[in-house]
Amino acid sequence: MSKEARTEIDSLGEFGLIKLLTEKNTSQNESTLKAVGDDAAVIRSGDHLKLLSTDMLLEGVHFDLSYVPLKHLGYKAVVVNLSDIYAMNGRAKQITVSIAISNRFSVEAIEELYSGIYLACSNYGVDLVGGDTSASRQGLVISVSVIGEVEEDKVVYRSGAHENDLLVVSGDLGGAYMGLQLLEREKSVFVDNPDIQPDLDGNDYVLERQLKPEARIDIVDLLNKMEVVPTSMIDISDGLASEVIHLCDQSGLGANVYDEKIPIDPMTYQRARDFELDPGVVALNGGEDYELLFTVKQSDYDKIKGNPNLTVIGHMQNKDAGIQLIAKNGTQHELSAQGWDAFLKQNRS
Ligand code: ADP
Ligand code: MG
Repeated sequence: MSKEARTEIDSLGEFGLIKLLTEKNTSQNESTLKAVGDDAAVIRSGDHLKLLSTDMLLEGVHFDLSYVPLKHLGYKAVVVNLSDIYAMNGRAKQITVSIAISNRFSVEAIEELYSGIYLACSNYGVDLVGGDTSASRQGLVISVSVIGEVEEDKVVYRSGAHENDLLVVSGDLGGAYMGLQLLEREKSVFVDNPDIQPDLDGNDYVLERQLKPEARIDIVDLLNKMEVVPTSMIDISDGLASEVIHLCDQSGLGANVYDEKIPIDPMTYQRARDFELDPGVVALNGGEDYELLFTVKQSDYDKIKGNPNLTVIGHMQNKDAGIQLIAKNGTQHELSAQGWDAFLKQNRS
């Protein structure tokens, strides 16, 4: 065997690997307006734009069927895809669903998965239009692709922010991560002692954030109604810190993020404390909240202020100023993405 160079994937990380694989990618069709690098690809189609995005969920990597009900899993597999379309300020229209299943699963189990898929389709007004079905040696794989639409003057990229734009987040953060911590804890208790019943009472909100997340089409509608077109936008799948860095990198800017402004639900806060975690760190780095992070012009502030669904957490600034997290007492430090990385922490989605 020849001794060829071997680079470990870990040394690049997920984003490094995608960059390596796609840096030489070129488009041959004029209709390809945006290829790799945003929440969805953007394709010209007559008088409007089509949006296309895809996500894959693997058993043992992205979900654990010992505590994730199949119906919820089907629902979530669709919702996380829709979220990427909403992050472009678009509307999701059609999905395809591909599955690989081992013989461990019964027909009834896969029907249960599909009941969640159909519920998400019905709730979000999207049509299931196809897919693929295969056997798998081990476990379950679900891959969903979604097509959306947006008008050309409404599409929002990660790269459109300007200096002094306000940085805004929808909803609250960190809940999905605390839901996961609770589920993992109860699982380990159960593994140690199968006679003990899971104790998850009183945690509905954070459990729902983890098991049955929603995508924020209501925020896309709200912004449209308020006549606000964000200058840049991304959905929060990997954690706020990581997504702020994406917006900054792609817009060629820095940012100030004010720690005490980051919205945290009281239950998330309390559960973080119970686990002896810093709620602020959980909100910054816990993934899977599927909220929207976006920037707006300062002149739009009056339109969004006071809305309970929207929180201004900072503003964009010159690249040289860096990306700063500013604490209540005024101390600041450079924001880093300690968020999980699919290749480094393989138990998260
Ligand atoms: P998101 O978190 O919004 O789902 P990702 O971080 O998964 O986005 O992907 C970032 C970008 O890289 C997207 O434009 C996606 O389409 C692209 N991408 C991811 N994996 C690959 C791949 N294996 N080949 C080509 N493009 C990829
Ligand atoms: Mg995304």
